[in-house]
Amino acid sequence: MFLLKIVVAIGIAFLIIKIGVFILRSLATPPPEPPPPGELRKVKLLYRCELCGAEVRMTTAAEENPDPPRHCMDDMELLIEEE
Ligand SMILES: [Zn+2]
Repeated sequence: MFLLKIVVAIGIAFLIIKIGVFILRSLATPPPEPPPPGELRKVKLLYRCELCGAEVRMTTAAEENPDPPRHCMDDMELLIEEE
């Protein structure tokens, strides 16, 4: 039965497409959302890279004493902690 083979082939093709769409949908998970603004803390921290002298001011952090940023492959030195 030639016609039956075509129908089966079309059915299998649809099945493969459906599985492909399902896999793509499960892969496309949305990225994690940042914490709400109320949970972020306003900070005024000044960091300095001891190797190259670059200075960085941190204004917002997820916690009151955040980990220092890294520069030149090393942790930056905390200079000032303003109120
Ligand atoms: Zn540096």
